[in-house]
Amino acid sequence: MQVVKFGGTSVGKPERMKKIATLVTGMPGKKVVVLSALSGTTNSLVRIGDFLLANRPAQATAEIASLEKHYAGFIDELYESEAYKAIGQEIVSRYFSLFKLMAAGKFDDRGYRELLAQGELISTELFFHHCQERKINARLLPALHFMSIDENHEPELEKISERLQPILETMASADLLITQGYICRNHKNEIDNLKRGGSDYTASLIGAAIRAKEIQIWTDIDGMHNNDPRIVKKTVPIAELTFEEASELAYFGAKILHPSTIVPAQKYGVPVLLKNTMDEKAQGTLISERGSRGQFKAVAAKDGITAIKIKSSRMLLAYGFLRQVFDVFEKYKTPIDMISTSEVAVSVTIDENKFLNEIILELKNYGSIDVDQNQTIICIVGNMLAEKEGVLRDVFQALASVPIRMVSYGGSNNNISLLVETSHKEKALNLLNEGLFGL
Ligand code: ADP
Ligand code: ASP
Ligand code: MG
Repeated sequence: MQVVKFGGTSVGKPERMKKIATLVTGMPGKKVVVLSALSGTTNSLVRIGDFLLANRPAQATAEIASLEKHYAGFIDELYESEAYKAIGQEIVSRYFSLFKLMAAGKFDDRGYRELLAQGELISTELFFHHCQERKINARLLPALHFMSIDENHEPELEKISERLQPILETMASADLLITQGYICRNHKNEIDNLKRGGSDYTASLIGAAIRAKEIQIWTDIDGMHNNDPRIVKKTVPIAELTFEEASELAYFGAKILHPSTIVPAQKYGVPVLLKNTMDEKAQGTLISERGSRGQFKAVAAKDGITAIKIKSSRMLLAYGFLRQVFDVFEKYKTPIDMISTSEVAVSVTIDENKFLNEIILELKNYGSIDVDQNQTIICIVGNMLAEKEGVLRDVFQALASVPIRMVSYGGSNNNISLLVETSHKEKALNLLNEGLFGL
């Protein structure tokens, strides 16, 4: 069995939805097809939810109306026959009646999450009926029946796997099993999600849960590029990456993959293939245990980082100091991304500021604290064995004109992380593109 995921742009136009139906039916064997919401839908649902939480129902209603118009046009082009156009209309009016009902009543955080889940529910239902119209042997596989997260928002891979097996057995006669990306149930059995961009994560979780042969992620670009194409003009696709390299790139800001996508696939050694829906023939990127040679492979950047420096003479010649510092972050469930130390100070970075004030207050027990916000981690990935000379020279030469706040190197053989002010990000990514890749 194979898992094939299509992102928002890949299903965002009727002709693309038709094209992916042709594409997956042409692939050998049985497939679980994971779909995102149509491009723009989740953003629109976020706006509706924000308006409702802010008690601005008129604006929510206007946004609902414009989204409904979009869907009316979409189904008109998606289905051929009058009978299926009527089915499409019934689906759209059912979902939009629900939105209007939500806008008219009491709205809270739980309703918000329910609202966000509707994008993937509509896209899969529309796609399923398109397959029906074309007599493709497909079934709907409801993600809310098996995809779950625990109280720490971590997916429950074992449970997902246990729930999926019997469901798949009942659907054994179908060639395509169509399911929703992104959505899940939480520990209270409420509707929840895997955070923005989470459909990639769904595909990987299902791939790991059923020990799939391969996980394919189809998007609007020909694989993982060596640099962020939204910021740098000339970037090139990378043919192969190891799980570790891809994981670092995803975690450190390569938007093509949700930050946690690689974790489940790597756990069970399921290769992940990134492909371009707009250019099926392009090679894409294969992510597996194997990887390939090449010193510098790619660069990614993650914004919204806060650096915290703890300075204390108590650190000098003392043991146990770092443990006390880390305990504070553990208490507030705030992960640390980068760390660098001297004899009397330690700097760490975090990307989650929810408990920043509490953390600072507690850290003050251990020394004086400096906080820098609006920082960006630049992550350089490749084969950077410590025995190899010149690795850091090349990086620093490229970035000679950019102030660097922190450096992390040697933690693994395939990563150098640098912290810069976000205002220097664009320049840093472009200079690295020239200096490390000659682009
Ligand atoms: P989907 O809707 O299919 O999930 P996304 O918009 O989430 O697609 O991800 C694809 C986008 O990721 C690309 O269009 C590209 O702009 C962006 N991106 C950022 N960094 C990279 C990178 N290193 N390689 C490829 N794409 C990247
Ligand atoms: N539709 C969701 C989002 O836009 C999930 C995804 O596309 O992966 O974030
Ligand atoms: Mg995405």
